[in-house]
Amino acid sequence: MSEHVGPRLRSARDATGLLIDTGGIGLTPEAFTRPLTCPDPGCGVGVAPVREHSRTTETRGTSTVAAHFRLHPGTRHHPTCQYDPDGIIATIAANSEGTATAVPGRLRLLVPADFTGTTRTTSPDPGGRRTALQIAAGPSSMSPVIGSAAAIQRFLDRYPDDPQAAAMFHISYAGRDIAWADFCFGDDPIALLHLTRRITKGQGPDHPIAIRGTLTGTGVARAGTSFYAEQDLRTRIVLAGRSRPLYVRIRSRDERLIETVAAGRRYLALGAWSAFAPAAGGLAELVLWLRKPWQVHVWSEGGQALTI
Ligand SMILES: [Zn+2]
Repeated sequence: MSEHVGPRLRSARDATGLLIDTGGIGLTPEAFTRPLTCPDPGCGVGVAPVREHSRTTETRGTSTVAAHFRLHPGTRHHPTCQYDPDGIIATIAANSEGTATAVPGRLRLLVPADFTGTTRTTSPDPGGRRTALQIAAGPSSMSPVIGSAAAIQRFLDRYPDDPQAAAMFHISYAGRDIAWADFCFGDDPIALLHLTRRITKGQGPDHPIAIRGTLTGTGVARAGTSFYAEQDLRTRIVLAGRSRPLYVRIRSRDERLIETVAAGRRYLALGAWSAFAPAAGGLAELVLWLRKPWQVHVWSEGGQALTI
């Protein structure tokens, strides 16, 4: 029997309606009441717990399959289920105004080449800020692109740390095919630490990138003329000669940025990021200056999109 490929459910609903995760799989007595179903209450397809196990790969090595919940053979999610890969791909493509193209099992998101322009700066400005790319005035509205990207990420948030889920999505930019994992960074502070180092050395990605996460605060720049929403990554980086706490900061001169967002909200922001470590300050920032409001998409934990 061939091994299941595709995203693996990491949560389920038990017969009492309780949402359970994989931590209870394999315990005696069982930590949940069967039968189990898909976590989406509107779906209800039956699932079975699968313990962590090893399997032989095609190259005769072994790999570990993490504990998960598997659909019963021959069944599938309800078409509107939030966990259904095929349904989500079709929905995102249908709502994307042509920016996302679905093929069976995969979705390609087109990020227009004129989004960032071609100007590249390599030297830091007097403030020590390095910019890998410079945004030109793009098309009048890119909201379907970032809306689709955020919808993809909301789906991936339901399949955390699942390479099979991430492999369903890729970006097309300037004729290149870019894996989702090389386009959208976040949640893992170490990955953002590496990204910051790359940008500082002028070795950042030569395509737009998205950073996602959970906002931890907002603020006003000391001069009072710009505003920011931030995520404290709770990690430190050595930059410009000292160890500094690392933050993601989305900056704008438009006050609506901080009027709309609040701590605890999820975000995905798209554009040309730079690294900033002011000589006089103690922080390091992975920073995106918003040229257009559509560059950031914010939603509540429940998935409700918010408009800035
Ligand atoms: Zn389902």
